[in-house]
Amino acid sequence: MSRDGARLVVGVDIGNSTTEACVALISDDRSTRWLGSGIAATSGVKGTPANVDGVAASIDQALARAGRRLGEVDVVLTNEATPVISGLAMETITETVVTESTMIGHDPRTPGGGGLGVGTTVGLHALAGCAVGDDVIVVVGVDEDFEDIADVLVTATRRGVAVHGAILGGDEAVLVANRLDTRLPIIDEVSLIDEVPLGMLTAVEVADPGRTIRTLSNSYGIATLFGLDAEQTAMIAPVARSLTGNRSAVVVRTPSGDVTDRHIPAGSVSLRGESLTLSVEVDAGAEKVMGSLARVQPLLDASGESGTNVGGMIAGVRDAMAELTGQNPGEIHIRDLLAVDTLVPTEVRGGLAHEVSREDAVLLAAMVRTSRGPMEQVASEVRRDLGARAGRAVDVEIGGVEAEMAVRGALTTPGTREPIVVLDLGGGSTDAAYSDRSDEVTSVHVAGAGDLVTTLIDAELGLDDKRVAEEIKRNPLAKVESFFHVRHEDGTAQFFSEPLSPELFARVVVLGEGGYVVVPGRHDLATVKRVRREAKRRVFCVNALRALEQIAPGGNIRQIEFVVLLGGSALDFEIPDMIADAVAGFGIVCGTGNVHAALGPRNAVASGLVSAHAARPGSVSAA
Ligand code: ADP
Ligand code: MG
Repeated sequence: MSRDGARLVVGVDIGNSTTEACVALISDDRSTRWLGSGIAATSGVKGTPANVDGVAASIDQALARAGRRLGEVDVVLTNEATPVISGLAMETITETVVTESTMIGHDPRTPGGGGLGVGTTVGLHALAGCAVGDDVIVVVGVDEDFEDIADVLVTATRRGVAVHGAILGGDEAVLVANRLDTRLPIIDEVSLIDEVPLGMLTAVEVADPGRTIRTLSNSYGIATLFGLDAEQTAMIAPVARSLTGNRSAVVVRTPSGDVTDRHIPAGSVSLRGESLTLSVEVDAGAEKVMGSLARVQPLLDASGESGTNVGGMIAGVRDAMAELTGQNPGEIHIRDLLAVDTLVPTEVRGGLAHEVSREDAVLLAAMVRTSRGPMEQVASEVRRDLGARAGRAVDVEIGGVEAEMAVRGALTTPGTREPIVVLDLGGGSTDAAYSDRSDEVTSVHVAGAGDLVTTLIDAELGLDDKRVAEEIKRNPLAKVESFFHVRHEDGTAQFFSEPLSPELFARVVVLGEGGYVVVPGRHDLATVKRVRREAKRRVFCVNALRALEQIAPGGNIRQIEFVVLLGGSALDFEIPDMIADAVAGFGIVCGTGNVHAALGPRNAVASGLVSAHAARPGSVSAA
């Protein structure tokens, strides 16, 4: 069809997240010239006719880069997609509940003054009625003016009332503090100020800027202030724990008020393997769950105890998969699970100022095998679309099995040879394929990959914004220290001659491809970086080892010599290094693939399809 008698061939890889295409010209002597590649988001569930839009977009892009038209294409090759899809669910398994009007853990942005004060709560307007020598903490409603507040406090103090601190509904702590004769701890922004109980012994602590409180975050500190016995101290321990790391805090001691750290029964998960079924309590921790899973391998199905959180989680994943694939939930079998322990900021139930505490949670990624209609349906839909747009019939063939094609593509990376393991780090699953010189390719799929990392970052930083979480995952951080300079996460400074935008000032930002993106909330750079790296480590280092163990000859990782990382998550700026570190101890050479010495970790399957086609007897005819 093409100009020089050579054939114009397009390989297309439909992934769960991404569809990749690459265009090559195959001459009669089977030599292949690579002309261009394209990438688009996968439309619809992988392996269904809805994929056609993403396929069309990636082919069009690849052809445009190759400088060719659709009408010139001789054949389009698609992969026999692996029928695995994955889902995620998260549940918190602890809950901090405040009963009665005990206030804890409030951490306003700008508390005023400093120090530690203990006294009985009294309303601002009742201060005039307090006796000389009374130890008080003043509670101030939202409507008061800061100058009036300061006047009342100064007057009372001069009269001899021992004012030890203040709690404000508004946001004027600093303004009030600046107008006093003495230095007092002042907390503000207490949104439910009217519910702060009066006449109760209360402690207020404000640390100097850049420091954290010392007394109220220490169980024995609280016990000392309030004269608590051992039993009472044990009860307030969760309070101290939730205040750790704050610059300021209030603890009100109410007679029956109580803060409890309630443990929500998470339930157990039952793992049914080929010859063994184990049940494990999810709140025993991710490591226990993963240990049990390793013992029952290969997993045939998993289920959660009904009426518990895990029961709900697993049923939720199963239902979502059933809906996606149009199957009956009963036919969906969970073939792999990844459990990850996490801590998520959650609003304290019963708190007075939207206090937040970090609760234990479990994230589960599950992978199921689907029994969808064959890839032939997708191919015929693509054939119809391309034919209509090209104005003539375009040949569309299913060119090969994904794992085999991935290995073929990966082996074009300089410095590789068989036996080889390809680790495809995708969005939903981490896939491994092993090939030795016998041309026999085996593959395994484990649940959890890039999307799980994004979800972990989103949850742990309390962002509730997947787009920002994705930016944080993909790029390094910086702190905007002045209008003219930023400090990168590696400690280096960068200066600008034009001032930076004011809303970036003093913020932690992501160096996104489209410019700086502000990290919402009040997390410092070190915290965001730690959360990002831990999320990657807990997903990818764990999964790389799991996949390698499952695929290694005789289950012995040491038998593996070369590992090539492929897929979108292999483009990450730190995941490949983390995995290489994790497997270095086994004497494995591990690095990011560079398909055809040029395409990086992308396009292995798409180009593998083209190469397989070129090598197939009869695919190239001189006729
Ligand atoms: P699939 O083969 O399942 O379609 P991909 O190989 O496209 O999936 O991988 C998708 C994953 O790769 C997503 O989780 C995405 O966040 C991640 N990803 C894509 N580009 C990058 C990048 N530059 N840095 C880090 N992660 C990336
Ligand atoms: Mg893929």
